[in-house]
Amino acid sequence: MCSQALRTRKGEHLRGERQKMKVDRMFDLSMTIEKGMRLFPGIPEPVFTKVRTHQENGLQVTKLEAVVHSGTHVDSPRHVISNGEVICNTNLDRLIGEGTVLGLKHKPPGSVITEDDLNTYAKDIGKNDIVILNTGYEKSAEPEKYCTLAPEAAHWLVNREIKCLAVDMPSLDPINRKGGRASDQTHPAHHIILGAGIPLVECLVNLDALHGRMFFVCLPLKISDCDAAPARVIALTFSEP
Ligand SMILES: [Zn+2]
Repeated sequence: MCSQALRTRKGEHLRGERQKMKVDRMFDLSMTIEKGMRLFPGIPEPVFTKVRTHQENGLQVTKLEAVVHSGTHVDSPRHVISNGEVICNTNLDRLIGEGTVLGLKHKPPGSVITEDDLNTYAKDIGKNDIVILNTGYEKSAEPEKYCTLAPEAAHWLVNREIKCLAVDMPSLDPINRKGGRASDQTHPAHHIILGAGIPLVECLVNLDALHGRMFFVCLPLKISDCDAAPARVIALTFSEP
């Protein structure tokens, strides 16, 4: 059951700012769900079927079959924890709010993001912030070579009490090449972040235009009994009037 009602944002901090700030630009940080899109290895392509067409029916209706981790999406705890929260119950307050982008494009593709890497930005990250990692994955030539998050770095973020982690990578953990059951050994960073109740947004794009702070809005589809859902994600930047 998805019973959660949209709660009113407290956002006292922003409410105070709103009088003197106005939205300057809006950035769409979402991938297009389409044939040929970049997908995590092993995930099947989305399938589009026209169940009604203009030619035959005078209108178009499309059926989409896709894994819920296709394109820009939000992982909920159910992804790695068998009794974890499902995506339709994710607290939207955790997916909307002030965020900061950490530039990590100097990290080589396939390398590990460490506690030291995050410590560089320690002064920029406050409690209840949405932390966004830009590793440059969107433009990397090798889709399987994405940066991963060291377990200590995941703990570092949890200890900072961030409210959401959003990344351009397709996963926080290395590909489980040995196969077999997934666990906190194969997916440690997922377990640490999702286990702490922090939603995880993956496969963001268009991050290069963003530096430092902005307002982040991520709305995953409200799908029943699911471990993730595709999301539309935008960032708003503000200017003085
Ligand atoms: Zn995912």
